[in-house]
This record gives sequence, C-alpha cells and structure tokens, in this order.
Amino acid sequence: MKLNYKIFDAHSHFPSPSEDVFTVQNWDYWKVNEPVPQGYYSTGLHPWYLSKIKNQNDVEVFFLDHLQDPRCLALGEVGLDFFRSDVTNDQQEMIFKWALLVANKFPDKPIIIHSVRSESEILKILHETHRTGPVIWHNYLLNCYPTKTKFALYASISPRILKLKLDRRLKIIKDIPTDKILIESDDQISEYSTLKSFMNETCCINDETITKNTTKIFSL
Ligand SMILES: [Zn+2]
Repeated sequence: MKLNYKIFDAHSHFPSPSEDVFTVQNWDYWKVNEPVPQGYYSTGLHPWYLSKIKNQNDVEVFFLDHLQDPRCLALGEVGLDFFRSDVTNDQQEMIFKWALLVANKFPDKPIIIHSVRSESEILKILHETHRTGPVIWHNYLLNCYPTKTKFALYASISPRILKLKLDRRLKIIKDIPTDKILIESDDQISEYSTLKSFMNETCCINDETITKNTTKIFSL
C-alpha cells in the first residue's frame, strides 16, 4: 500500500481529490445502485436513510458483500440520530444493533459512528453488543472523552468544530488522548485545510500525529 500520502482524511463523502490524499470515502446503503468507490471506502447505513431496510438479513447481506473487499476499510457510518431520521428511534437502535453484529465478525475493521443527541445510547449499545474492535466517532464533539470503554475510541474531528466558540473547541480537543485523534472532511471538503491549520497551529496536533493515528486505525 502507498504510504507517502500528505493528507489523511478519515471520513469523507467525496472521493480522494488527489493521489496525495488518503481518503476513506463513505458509501451508503441508499446508494447501493451506484458504483462502488474507486479508492478506499467505508460501507454504512446512515441513520437519516433507513426506511429501505426491511429486516436483519438485508443488513447482513449488504455488509458481508463489502467488508470482504480489501478496499473497504471500515463499517460505517452507522449509529443513531435522534434529531433526524426516516424511521423511529427504536427502529434506528434495532438496525444499529444488527450492523454491530456483522461488524463483530470483522474485529480488525473499525466502525464509524454517527451520533446526534444519542451519545449515551450509542455507548450503551456498544457495551451491550460487546464491541471490542476499534471505533471511530465521526464529527466528534463530546465534552468529555469516554475513558471506560472496552474498545479503542478514536475521535474524528470534522470542520463542524470550527463553528463552535474557541474555548469550547479547545476543551473538546484537549480532553482527547493525542494518540486517538483523527481528522475528516465529512461533507465539507473545502473546509479541510482550515481545519488542519487549526489543529496544527492552535491545538498543537501536528501532521505526524494524524499520520500515525490514521495509519494505525486503518492498519495501513
Ligand atoms: Zn459523514
């Protein structure tokens, strides 16, 4: 695998913009009729679009099809969004648990979590489903880094953090262990370089740290 990337983007809704950029492109169930991304990708069930899932078998078949592909580096984004979804909160929880059952068959592949207004439910379900493989919390904005988990928890910082007041941003980032920080563009690829500069200059999270953490979590 090529390892001279200059930029590491742990979660994006766009393909890698150049060969210097390592990107894990999100590819979702609702796009199942579109071609699979050309580069590295993750395969997920976005909590906004779950109404097409009819049963547990749908979830299993979809994930098993892709997780065996060496270019598919993670399962996700999956999770809970109690602000917006096309199904009820209970249905979201059920589908999230189904996804985690498949994820546990691939313990080396991280899962990418989407969570809105559901932080404690996510942690509770990860605990109940005996998650031990690594977890990437995408668009991480938690005030307090959960330390008592049985899995390695990576906090992936997205450009959305730039919208918060500076003292709140710094509080969030200082609470995360340095070896568990990742950076992502999510759906705001134009903001990635501003985010990278903020992390470098204001938070003292240098490129070397991000390279090391990303390489480790995705076993590159
Ligand atoms: Zn996303």
